[in-house]
Amino acid sequence: MAKYIGAKCRFCRRAGKKLFLKGSRCSCAACAIDRRNYPPGQHGKNKVKLSEYGLQQKEKQIAKRVYGVLERQFRIYYREADGMEGITGDNLLILLEKRLDNVVYRLGFARSRSEARQLVRHNHILVNGRKVNIPSYLVKVGDIIEIKHDGEPLELFKMILEETGDRIVPEWLNCNKDNYKGSIVSEPKREQIDSDVNMTLIVELYSK
Ligand code: SF4
Repeated sequence: MAKYIGAKCRFCRRAGKKLFLKGSRCSCAACAIDRRNYPPGQHGKNKVKLSEYGLQQKEKQIAKRVYGVLERQFRIYYREADGMEGITGDNLLILLEKRLDNVVYRLGFARSRSEARQLVRHNHILVNGRKVNIPSYLVKVGDIIEIKHDGEPLELFKMILEETGDRIVPEWLNCNKDNYKGSIVSEPKREQIDSDVNMTLIVELYSK
């Protein structure tokens, strides 16, 4: 599946806020938002007032970049969310949150979602004891997510777990870092998802 491999800090600068796309680097002085909080490009410092459509587009780009999803798949998620019971924006966010790469990130098994995606792609993650290398796999209640290891995990994981040690795991997940395992306790609820993306703007954009 296609993925964006260009500079990620540009996305945060375009959004005007930290999107936390690079793991621990995002919390240190090297963060581009802390150093140059204006949009990239020659005219970046010029103030531009966005139209309603522009604001909707901007919010959609933020959601896509945070979760590492391209347009086609994002649209598929929207259609699915629209067909579900409840609030479409909340459903959309919940679907994105249930992606395996996001769950690996939320459990603290990766420093960023892009790292989580790579770990999944490279067969380092087991779901219910079986290799699943599809980052967009949607987890279900009761699934056990595990770092693949034969006795001791890779040094990389020890480093990652140390760095993510103080990350707060959302209530809908349970994590046992000593066993390198996590599980899905319940369906995520909107209020349990730490996200300030304005999903209403995205729904307005797609429902035109
Ligand atoms: Fe965004 Fe992280 Fe880059 Fe800062 S370091 S601009 S939060 S990706």
